[in-house]
Amino acid sequence: MLLCDCHTHSICSPDGNVPILEMARAAKAAGLGELCITDHCDLLNGGGERTLSYDWAPVLEQYAQARQLEDESFALRLGLELGGAQVSPAHAEAILAGAELDFVIGSVHNKSEALGGGDFYYVSYTSPRLCHELLDDYFDSLLAVARLGLYDSLGHLIYPLRYMNRRDGQGVTLEPHLPVIREILAAVIESGRSLEVNTYCGRTVEDWREVLVLYHEMGGRRVTLGSDAHHPENVGRGMAEACALLRELGFGEVTVYRRRQPRGIPLN
Ligand SMILES: [Zn+2]
Ligand SMILES: [Zn+2]
Repeated sequence: MLLCDCHTHSICSPDGNVPILEMARAAKAAGLGELCITDHCDLLNGGGERTLSYDWAPVLEQYAQARQLEDESFALRLGLELGGAQVSPAHAEAILAGAELDFVIGSVHNKSEALGGGDFYYVSYTSPRLCHELLDDYFDSLLAVARLGLYDSLGHLIYPLRYMNRRDGQGVTLEPHLPVIREILAAVIESGRSLEVNTYCGRTVEDWREVLVLYHEMGGRRVTLGSDAHHPENVGRGMAEACALLRELGFGEVTVYRRRQPRGIPLN
């Protein structure tokens, strides 16, 4: 099967440095069948201030230029990682209407505005108790995003764990949050949307096992794969391992999107 990396960033993201053309070249060199560029559009910035508009012009220009690399075995798709849509659904909707998109990832990177709104990346995780309080806040926001429905795949559900465990070693588990995680997964499943397995930039693929087992038990079948690469050398990273884990857990296919319509690719 030809793998499709459905979550990548370019210089059009605040934390990216590489033109879309270079990311596409890397994807092609890695033998991927599709690359979807999903640059960041967050309704709260890293410091927690509202950012309610988006300039599509640089993305569209770079995307058009990079499409010269497309051929019968490689397609470039245009997506968006829409962060914090629940902050202002009307603005989120207006942003999505600004371009003809193949795919939208719905995600949350920030604390709620009641807690200051800053990105979970910047928090100093000094105790497990603080981690769990912030996870309560995070999952409340993610549930709102999941129910709002302005996305095709729900991005990196375990996002704050990247920083809680990797940087400060708090050894936090999802166990206390399983009830709200169930509600989030139910919203994804009932609306026919997909769950993303973030294969590299998050943590290891194995970290997804618990969530994927629960998702499958609840009837969830649609899964998208994305490396969340911000650099060419990481495009497609972790995807083969993710496919192996999905097969082991009984999933039969991965989902890709074109013009926001899902298509299943058998996992064999
Ligand atoms: Zn993200
Ligand atoms: Zn991302």
